[in-house]
Order: sequence, then C-alpha cells, then structure tokens
Amino acid sequence: MPITLPAPVPGSLDYPEVPVGAIVAGAAARWGERVAYRHHDRQLTFTEVYRAACRFANALRANGIAPGDTVAIHAPNCLAYPVAYYGIQLAGATFVPANPLLPPADLAAQLADSGAVAAVTFGKAAQTLAAIQDRTAVRLVVTVGDDFDEFHAGQPETPPDVPIDVHRALAHLAYTGGTTGRSKGVELPHRNIVVNALQYTLWNNGTVPVVDPAGGLTLDQVGSADEWPVRLGTGVIINLTPWFHAMGIISGVNMSMLTGTTVALQDGFEPRRYLAEAERLRITSIGGAPALFAGLVACPDLATRDLSSVRTLGSGAAPMPHETTRALHDRFPDATIVEGYGLTEVTLIATGGPAFRSGIRKPGTVGVPVPGTEVKIVDADGEPLPAGEKGEVCVRGPQVMPRYHNRPEETDATLVDGWLHTGDIGVLDEDGYLSIVDRKKDMLLYKGYNVYPRELEELLMAQPGVRQAAVVGRHRTDVGELPVAFVVRTDEAVTDESLLAAVNDNVLPYKRIRELYFVDEIPVSAAGKVLKRELRARL
Ligand code: AMP
Repeated sequence: MPITLPAPVPGSLDYPEVPVGAIVAGAAARWGERVAYRHHDRQLTFTEVYRAACRFANALRANGIAPGDTVAIHAPNCLAYPVAYYGIQLAGATFVPANPLLPPADLAAQLADSGAVAAVTFGKAAQTLAAIQDRTAVRLVVTVGDDFDEFHAGQPETPPDVPIDVHRALAHLAYTGGTTGRSKGVELPHRNIVVNALQYTLWNNGTVPVVDPAGGLTLDQVGSADEWPVRLGTGVIINLTPWFHAMGIISGVNMSMLTGTTVALQDGFEPRRYLAEAERLRITSIGGAPALFAGLVACPDLATRDLSSVRTLGSGAAPMPHETTRALHDRFPDATIVEGYGLTEVTLIATGGPAFRSGIRKPGTVGVPVPGTEVKIVDADGEPLPAGEKGEVCVRGPQVMPRYHNRPEETDATLVDGWLHTGDIGVLDEDGYLSIVDRKKDMLLYKGYNVYPRELEELLMAQPGVRQAAVVGRHRTDVGELPVAFVVRTDEAVTDESLLAAVNDNVLPYKRIRELYFVDEIPVSAAGKVLKRELRARL
C-alpha cells in the first residue's frame, strides 16, 4: 500500500523563500533560553548561538568578507562551529565544509578549488592549514580556542543587512567524492538547504514552516502526539556525525535548530560512554551512520542502560545491515526505526522511512521519497525500469544541486533533464519504497555478470560470530573481478571455511566469495562509509 501522511499534515510543503540565516533567527525567537548545544561542561542557548553568530557575521564583514565570498570551516564539531556556520550565512558568504583530517595536499586542492578567502580552524587542523595556506586564496584565519572569541567580541548583535537571492546565492559549497570518485564541489543555494531541512522535519515531526514577523523561520507541529513521537522543543540528541558532512550540518545543526532540539557533543565514539550519556541526558533519538548502531548493538550496556526516553532511531549515509536493524527492533520495540537515503548532490535526503506511528516502515528499505521529490530507476541507456527491476537511482526535486562547481562536463553527465543520476543501484517496490542494492562503482563484474557486494555482505553478517563484513573485487584479466571478503569476527571459533560454505552454498556460482580475510576492523570514513578503496589497496 502506498504511503499517505496522516491528516492534517499536508502532503507537500509551501516552501518559504527565506535564507539559511532565518533558521538561527527563528530558533532564537522560538526556543530562546533552551540549551541548543552542550560540550563537556559548556553550553550555548539558542539565543546565545544567534547573538554570537550575528557578531561573527559582522566581524567577517569588518574584515572585508563580502557576500558571495567563500569561507571554510576546517574543524571538528565544537561549540564554535554553529556560531561560525550561521555567522557565515548571515554575512551572505558561502560555507565550505572541510574535513579536519584531510591530508595537506587534498585540503590545499579543495580550498583552492572553492576559492575560499577565509577559514575557521581548530586544534591539530590549524597546523595542516598553516602548512598549505600559501597554496590557497585564504587571507584570514580564525582559530577556535585562540583568537575566535576575540575576533567577534564587541560586534553588533543584529545581523548585517545583506541581500540574499535564495535561488542563486550559495549557502554551501560541499566537497564530495560523488558519483565518479574525484572530489568535486557541490553548489547548494540557500533554498536547497532550507527546503531539504523542511522536507526532513515534515517526515520526522509532522511540521509545517512558519515565518515569524521578524523573518525568522520556525515550525508548527500539526500532527498529534500519538502520531509523531518527537514533539517540537523536547528533543535531545548526542551528535557524533561530523558537521563537515551533509548529515551533520543539515540534520544535526539545521534541523535541530528548527525543532528546538538540544545537541550534546562527544569527542569520538565509545559505545559505553555514549550509552551512559544517553541514559543521563534522556536522549529522545539516536541518529547516525550504521557504524554507530553496529557499535551499540555489540555493546553489553545496550541491554542494561535505561533508554526508555528514546523514541526514534534513524540511520543513513551507508547501508544498514539487516542484522543490526533486527537487533534494534528487539531492543527498542516501541521506538520508530527508520533509514534515510541521500547524497551531497541532493543536499542531504532524498528518501526516508516516515517517522509517524501509522506510517508503514519496511525494514531493509530506505523508505519513500520525501515530500516534493521524485525517484525513478533507469537502465544503462537511461530508460525507466518498472517496479522490481534493479537499475540506477535518479532523483528530481527542489533539493537537487543546480551544478558542480566549475565542472560543466561532470554536471552534464550527472544532471539530465533535471534528474540527478546518483551512481547508486537500487530497486523500487510496487508501493514506491526504495532499496539500495549497491553503488555503481562498487558493483563487480565477474565474467560479465553483475555481482553486488552488498548481497554477500548481508549473508556474511547474518552468520553468528560476525560483526562486520565488506566485499571488494580482485582484478583478474581472465574473468574480471573476483569477490574477496574482509570480516570482523566476535568469536574466534568462526573459521573461514565455515563462512565461505555458509555464503557460497546459498548464492549463484558466479557470486561466490573466492578469498576471505579476518581483520580487526573495517576502515570507515568519519561520515560512516566503508572505505573500499583502502580494502582494494590491501589486495
Ligand atoms: P555522500 O554524498 O558522502 O553523503 O555519499 C552519498 C552516498 O552514500 C550515496 O550515493 C550512497 O551510495 C550512500 N548512502 C547514503 N545513504 C545510504 C543508505 N541509507 N543506504 C545505502 N547507501 C547509502
């Protein structure tokens, strides 16, 4: 049965034409003295974030940063991050998120490509930036814990008056390996950010946007408390997703501001500490990449901590193993468990499991398109395929990027008639639920047959004593690529023979795993994606 939103929630949004700065202004007006961010023993209220962001915006302007200039934040999540982020937005500048762990050459390339003229940095990242700054256009560096507070102290606490064309002015210029592997800048105008945050909050909270008289953006929750488990102004989360990634900045920052959610920061993921804090803070949602959930499921404290405050669990950024989903359903029988799917090129989210109670959730799928979004599956010639057939996932909607930065050929190859070709292989069912089968570039070709590593990984992870598995191809000129597995086991008694037999007896001959290696861990990126490149390099 296709999904319908419960009344009185509208099926489509009347998207307000406001810039990203309206989110922080609206949050201050609406949530005021509630705690917005917590880190160790320090905290910032919604009002404090807004005032500091205004000061930061004015300081940028006073230092010659003009609307349209690009400003990088090259720092891990910290309290200064949202201040700098919204400061950049209120100044009419463009935010360039930079992973603080990027190797120097990659950082230099990214900053040069983006044309960043200023950067906010922190901790060890500051040294990397200093070493490559002369290869970039960066002329202003502000360092958290050093001159950050001083930089904006004493500036006016009202936003500078800068006109922003929400359809054209870029709020973010976000770098991604994207669908072809080379790091490219994704141009995201203000409208993309605002619309995608609203699409997602509608799906999560049953909300409609409201613009207050001062131009701030807030939400009204029109659904009932029975239907929509997390109420506005009551959410508490622990955020581990990096803010240089779409999931972090759109969900952890912008959606949290819109919904009045308190965000607690932790330095790194340690399951026992996470669960202890989750109990102490009475968090309402657990959100992140599958690696977070796999870590929690493997931790004995998950069974003993009081987690009765948790009402929703949301995973994204990479495929969630079915075993993990099952374990979470057992542990949180009354919570709503959803998976979302998207990519930097669609701002953040394209599809998701609806969070309302009467919504149909199909575990193992990544849900249905968020409001105002279309998804189709096409074959190698770009022709649409019927339900049930595997092909490339294409997305159309107001959150799709207009273009890559300075890469017209890659833009033309990726955006065809308004449809974004994602490079992901997926299948739609009769009800419009999407399942991601694999990445186009992860797919192996063995003697011309398609082998989807995800299918083999799922079979491996369904075996007792297996925590995690990743399958990559070993090149062989005679046959193409041979499936090779890397496995993290929790039980030393599990042998490679037993695993190979368990999988290979259950798949077609061309899909059989040919080699299997036990490893201590599978490398994942900070955003939670398995680094298959590294595994291939090991072969
Ligand atoms: P990024 O642009 O870094 O967010 O990476 C986007 C890619 O992550 C997508 O093209 C997918 O390959 C993958 N991805 C995101 N969410 C999911 C999901 N729920 N299931 C499977 N793959 C996902």
